[in-house]
Amino acid sequence: MSTSRTIICLLRNDLRLHDNEITSEELNVEKNVKLVCTQMKVKVESCWGSTLYHRDDLPFNHISRLPDVYTQFRKVIESQSRVRPVFPTPETLKPIPPGLEEGAIPTAEDLKLTEPVDDSRSAFPCRGGESEALARIKHYFWDTNAVATYKETRNGLIGVDYSTKLAPWLAIGCISPRYIYSQIKSYETQRTANQNTYWVIFELLWRDYFKFVALKYGNQIFHINGLQNKSSPWKKDMKLFNAWKEGRTGVPFVDANMRELAMTGFMSNRGRQNVASFLTKDLGLDWRMGAEWFEYLLVDYDVCSNYGNWLYSAGVGNDPRENRKFNMIKQGLDYDNNGDFVRQWVPELQALRGPDVHTPWTLSAAALSHAQVSLGETYPVPIVIAPEWSRHVGKNSLEGLQGLHIEGKRVCLTPPNSTGTEASIFIFLKAKVASDWRTVAEEMGFSYLEITNYETFKNPTDLILNNWPAQDSEASVGKLLFILTKVERRDVVEELRALIDADVTKYLEKKKEYPPVQVDVVDSCVPRTPERVGITLEDDPDGSPELFDAFICYCQSDFNFVHEMIRELEQTEFKLKLCVFDRDVLPGSCVWTITSELIERR
Ligand code: FAD
Repeated sequence: MSTSRTIICLLRNDLRLHDNEITSEELNVEKNVKLVCTQMKVKVESCWGSTLYHRDDLPFNHISRLPDVYTQFRKVIESQSRVRPVFPTPETLKPIPPGLEEGAIPTAEDLKLTEPVDDSRSAFPCRGGESEALARIKHYFWDTNAVATYKETRNGLIGVDYSTKLAPWLAIGCISPRYIYSQIKSYETQRTANQNTYWVIFELLWRDYFKFVALKYGNQIFHINGLQNKSSPWKKDMKLFNAWKEGRTGVPFVDANMRELAMTGFMSNRGRQNVASFLTKDLGLDWRMGAEWFEYLLVDYDVCSNYGNWLYSAGVGNDPRENRKFNMIKQGLDYDNNGDFVRQWVPELQALRGPDVHTPWTLSAAALSHAQVSLGETYPVPIVIAPEWSRHVGKNSLEGLQGLHIEGKRVCLTPPNSTGTEASIFIFLKAKVASDWRTVAEEMGFSYLEITNYETFKNPTDLILNNWPAQDSEASVGKLLFILTKVERRDVVEELRALIDADVTKYLEKKKEYPPVQVDVVDSCVPRTPERVGITLEDDPDGSPELFDAFICYCQSDFNFVHEMIRELEQTEFKLKLCVFDRDVLPGSCVWTITSELIERR
């Protein structure tokens, strides 16, 4: 049975149950508590208490009308509902009934648990209880003003103050979202009100949203096909899953986050989004395996937020965008630019300097040996390499290919493709990999029947190499090198090396020939107006506009196109700051929210 997040206030013979549960196991706990109370003749009163907006104040007539897209939910609730005020704190409590022993709070030992081990690296080195939650708010809001920069720091990975860290207390009901809201409002009145302070409310609304989604969909939130009843060929490969959960995938950004979770019970939101995308989109594993691992370890585990976010990451929940997939290397470089977070949790890569720590498999043998890293021995080779990663490996790719050893005889490299835009470079080995061709074919994902069929041909190696790119969208030089290394054919690359170098150089040069796409009409290099007019100035409560490199204005029917455009723009080397807004937004409403939601939620 799951842990109940029910807070019980015992007031004489009355029991007030806050935080009505929604999901089946939690409802069962609540039912059992009520049953025991009835037997003991204790009056039980329930009241809704876990969300920012009260369930009865939802402006949707019936929960079945709850929008399936967060933005729609938020717009309606912000404009048509209100947050109820907090109840005043009672000055005294009624005494407990005579004859009832107060008793001592059970220790970890009483509960047959071990005391938690403190880890100085933890991003959540806090204790439980309401007093600690109140102290955290005092610290984050009033003592350090960290809340006034929340939106800018919330994607951090190291330290205590990059985000509020209120989730663990919220999850077990030590603090209410309404109380946090009231503190934000008084902070805004007394100190400053800006998009950062608003953004905490924005995030709390996500929490509300997932709770109401669970109310709408019931147990469907636990179904493999999710809210959309979308069936996908999810795998249940325990070898891959164990590598993920133990932080041994060979992808340092993933491993660092997974180890942080295992050691401390906490992981940043940025980390969670990445490791979830990696499990579902790169490994293709059943998303519920990941959700269950989070359920087991998270100190802020909350059934609705956890399953809601996992459904979202797996593409079977409330994400309006199809096929959202995080690029582990780009994300690592964007949010852990110098690699400090990885080095903090993956000590075996400690001696790799700077951002190189994100892609050890692309480094030269000399660089690895200098850092005392031996791939496959001191640190794993990646269990998967996504083709899109190569775009972010930069100059390392050349060095990396030189460093890998594959064996072979004569090899011919074809250029990337005719348009020159393909990121992966395919090599076609014309030579046989001799007796090992079956093993190579197996690793490439060919079935037993296909392999048996190839046996009848004169040159099966040629066939598998030619057919591989057609059947595996991730077929790439990197993956082939990885496979050949794995099957211990170390005689190929020595001869391949010069050819790969030449090909990669050609590819990189070709890339330079293609300047970023820029259409005259939307050329924003030259300001069109002398003054900074426009929505950002009007809408910023502070009156100081945020500056963007590009504005994208869309109407609802362009939605998918806009996502695609953002994706393309973000893949360029230029770190563009994009402002995305829809045409429905009326002057004076908060454009920031839409903008950042689209960009930041990615
Ligand atoms: P802050 O960034 O300070 O946010 C303030 C508060 O807003 C949080 O305390 C939380 O209550 C709420 N919030 C922020 N982001 C989200 C979100 N995406 N969804 C719902 N509420 C949000 N959060 C949980 O509370 N419990 C979970 O079990 C949980 N599982 C998650 C699983 C995955 C795969 C992902 C991607 C996210 C999950 N989250 C979960 C959401 C989010 O990662 C955490 O709420 C956040 O990292 C907690 O740190 P914080 O309190 O400093 O958050």
